[in-house]
This record gives sequence, structure tokens and C-alpha cells, in this order.
Amino acid sequence: MPEAKAAIVTGAASGIGRAVAVHYAARNIRTVIGTFPGDPHDPEETLRQVKDAGGQAVVHEVDVRSTDSVEAFAQRAVDEYGRLDYAVANAGILRNAPLGELSDERWHDMLDVDLTGVLRTLRAGAARMGEGGAMVAVSSIAGGVYGWEEHAHYAAAKAGVLGLVRSVAVELGPRQIRANAVIPGLIETPQSLDPVNSLGPEGLRRAGNDIPWGRVGHPEEVAEVIGFLTSPAANYVTGQAIVVDGGLTVK
Ligand code: NAD
Repeated sequence: MPEAKAAIVTGAASGIGRAVAVHYAARNIRTVIGTFPGDPHDPEETLRQVKDAGGQAVVHEVDVRSTDSVEAFAQRAVDEYGRLDYAVANAGILRNAPLGELSDERWHDMLDVDLTGVLRTLRAGAARMGEGGAMVAVSSIAGGVYGWEEHAHYAAAKAGVLGLVRSVAVELGPRQIRANAVIPGLIETPQSLDPVNSLGPEGLRRAGNDIPWGRVGHPEEVAEVIGFLTSPAANYVTGQAIVVDGGLTVK
């Protein structure tokens, strides 16, 4: 039996990140669950679901705004499991800001998490991976293919993620390490359920009616694609971005 692989997932105390940890658990991939201390999400619930799925994981506090914190997070996989195979740069924030109120500070705060946070995660991950390693960054239709009023900073960060991933993929190809992105559409998570910065429950329900698939997405449906992109099934796929949106952006 080959040794079980190991992954780091940022922002895994909720939403898409939690679903990725559970997806990995069911495939015998050991995970370091990244949890952000400032948020109300419950990493123990992720851990419980991982164990229910028969998996192995540890919870580790990480703030993707800090290089030291992210380096320690990636190192935890090596210390705990003796290896790091997969890195999922999932942590992100969403903030609403009309252009006239989009101060330099708000812009930098957003990019620090949603773009530089991805760089820090991929960099720390790649430094500890060998041949067969794979990384996925979570972008958004707002950065990939879709304009969203009052979210210019979010969209810019998420667009930046796509360029970052393409270049990293080219650079790491000779080491047989892959880097890809997912571009989720509207997915029901704490982020999209926030009525201030996003659509809220009622807005999501209404938006779902306009999506060809007839509803918004589940976090597990994004996790499946992330799992595919890190798996050996995607061995020759690198530098790509897959839209997971129920047809929203091709309508
Ligand atoms: P979520 O709010 O449940 O997850 C985001 C996670 O990031 C949270 O657990 C939060 O604690 C963590 N986080 C925030 N700031 C952090 C920091 N500085 N350091 C470390 N962790 C931090 O929402 P989600 O929808 O699951 O979001 C996951 C990713 O998917 C995000 O990058 C988000 O932008 C992206 N996304 C979501 C949607 C959607 O409709 N939900 C659509 C497109 C893209």
C-alpha cells in the first residue's frame, strides 16, 4: 500500500474549504484544516465530518495575510504526516464597496487576503512538495468571466489569481508539480449568505432561479472539481481554470 497523501486547505472551517477536507477524507488523503481565529466558523465541525468520513486531519490556525503563519501551516503537514502533496488556496473574504468608497486601504486589505494570500499558500506549498504535487487556487466568476458592481477589489484579486496560477504552472512543470484554479459561480456558503457583502439567503434563492441548473451550487460540487484537479486523474492538466457555476456564465 502506498503511503497516504497529505494536503493543506486554507479556510477549511466552513464552506468550500470544509467540503474539500471531507472530500479528501473519503479518499484517504490526510489534511491540515486551516482555520482563521477571527471568524465564527467551527473547525471542530470540519474535523468531526472528516472523522465521520473515515479520514485523518488536524486543525491549525493560519492567517493568510502573514507569510510566517502560512509557512508554519504548510510545515505542519510535513511535521504531522511527513509529506505534503496537495495545497488548496481557498481562504478568501468578500467585501462590498462602491468605487467611490473603495479606499486604498480597503483595496489593499482585499488583495492581501484574496491574492497575496494565494501566493503565500502556493509558495509555501510548492517549497515542500515533490514530484506529483498539485495545487488549486479558488478564484471566482467575478474575477474570471463576470462583472460585479461594487466588488472591483474582489474581482481584481480573483482575476489576479488566474494569472498567478498560469505562471506558477509553467514554472513548476519541470518539477512535475501542477497548479490550477477553480472559478465558482454562486455557491451557498457563509460568504454568499452574508446579506451585507453578498446576496444573502433570499438573494441567493432568487439568483438560483436564473441559473440554468435551477439553483445555486453546493460547496461539495466545487470540492469535487478541486479534488479532481489535485488527483492523478488530472495528471496532464496544469495552468487551467474550471468554471463551476451550473451554467450561469454561459447563459
Ligand atoms: P467561507 O466564508 O465559508 O470561507 C472562507 C474561509 O476563509 C473562511 O473559513 C474564513 O475563516 C477564511 N479566511 C478569511 N480570512 C482569512 C485569513 N486572513 N486567513 C485565513 N483564512 C481566512 O466562504 P466560501 O464561499 O466557502 O469561500 C471559499 C472561497 O471560495 C473564497 O476564496 C471565496 O472567495 C471563493 N468563492 C466563493 C463563492 C461563493 O459563492 N460562495 C463564489 C466564488 C468564489
